[in-house]
Amino acid sequence: MLQTPNEPSFRDSVDLMFSRAVRLMDLSPGLEQKIRVCNSTYTVRFGVRLRGKIETFTGYRSVHSEHMEPVKGGIRYALSVNQDEVEALAALMTYKCALVETPFGGSKGGLCIDPRQWDEHELEQITRRFAYELIKRDLIHPAQNVPAPDMGTGEREMAWIADQYARMNTTDINAKACVTGKPPHAGGIQGRVEATGRGVQYALREFFRHPRDVAMTGLSGGLGGKKVIVQGLGNVGYHAAKFLSEEDGCLITGIIERDGALVDDNGLNVDEVKAWIAQHGGVKGFPGGAYVEEGASVLEGDCDILIPAAMEGVIHRGNAENIRAPLIIEAANGPITFGGDEILRNRGKVIIPDMYANAGGVTVSYFEWVKNLSHIRFGRMQRRAEEARSRLLVEELERLSADKGLGWSMAEDFKERFLTGSDELALVRSGLDDTMRTAYQSMREIWHGREDVEDLRTAAYIVAIDRVAKTYRSKGL
Ligand code: GLU
Repeated sequence: MLQTPNEPSFRDSVDLMFSRAVRLMDLSPGLEQKIRVCNSTYTVRFGVRLRGKIETFTGYRSVHSEHMEPVKGGIRYALSVNQDEVEALAALMTYKCALVETPFGGSKGGLCIDPRQWDEHELEQITRRFAYELIKRDLIHPAQNVPAPDMGTGEREMAWIADQYARMNTTDINAKACVTGKPPHAGGIQGRVEATGRGVQYALREFFRHPRDVAMTGLSGGLGGKKVIVQGLGNVGYHAAKFLSEEDGCLITGIIERDGALVDDNGLNVDEVKAWIAQHGGVKGFPGGAYVEEGASVLEGDCDILIPAAMEGVIHRGNAENIRAPLIIEAANGPITFGGDEILRNRGKVIIPDMYANAGGVTVSYFEWVKNLSHIRFGRMQRRAEEARSRLLVEELERLSADKGLGWSMAEDFKERFLTGSDELALVRSGLDDTMRTAYQSMREIWHGREDVEDLRTAAYIVAIDRVAKTYRSKGL
């Protein structure tokens, strides 16, 4: 699984991909450089008294581009976190937000920690202390920098961060908008947890709506029956695999995890595997499919669609030659190195790039942020007209049921469905679907419309960089 030693770092890999795209654009060297570089990276080392002694932790918050504010991006908890990685991820956030037109700049944070080593109350202390350091410097702020979950963090951590901010800013009426990915009962939005995986599903659905694009992979038909190998059954991989198998008829023929992989040509049950991992800490011993100890070798397995949904750099110069899947969708950030990407392209593989494929998370984060700032139930404005109509209907139903003494529950059902906000999830999903379709169209136009653009990644970079450049120009830079 390890990259070959002479490959560029993650940040250099993103930089090289950026360079490939700007070579085909007409940007002044000054503006190109302004967009390329990471504006700032704050490093903090703080101590927390745990288990009778002081533990020191190192954390980062990197701001790549402030062409729009607030800047946006998750906070990652992993031992492997380092400045290079955080800066690469922050840059990807800039391009991702531009591509799906969420009005944010790019940022990313990370804490060097193995969250599995600590109990919940210890993690809360560590998270609150890290948040305190970032809040003090406006690196968590509803108008300036809005974090979200990433690898190793989730709703729980976001709720702690939101509470920490609220305690330190008691008069800020917009305090809840300081972070997204909160639990729904703490100012979050329905559908945020599933959003990135859901976005991967919508991206694939959109891809398979275009026979010309599908033909470029050598595949044909729709998503139904396609064999899928997924790496990583974390939040993103789990939801993507679950939705694709349960709703689109895909067969999950391989699941790669930390301790090995499972393969089954007839398709694995994603929920059963997930439950097994939760109970046993890994996939080994799962009663179904075959266990493969060398998990990374399954990346090279025979399938139609490969979904790397774990971490960066897993497909590189050392294994790209062996990848058999004709279509790869990057659910993780940066799973293919620059060198790996080159080999795959030369072999005619189609890659749906990270900045588009996993943009579902930040898209729904944007809905959550807007919901928090508007202080009204999400969708209320959009639905006002429909609600007025629905109310008339309910009144009519109630009158009818009272008149006729039918004990009709339909009026109640109707009220529940249309008047109580239970449709928030439906609104989030349709907004996400719309976003994924529109962003795909914008990449596709460049991909097929320009002779000099051969792949979706370069097309995505061109669309994104062009939008960032326009914002800088209109600001007078
Ligand atoms: N961490 C996620 C990402 O890489 C989500 C970021 C967000 O919602 O702000 O896109």
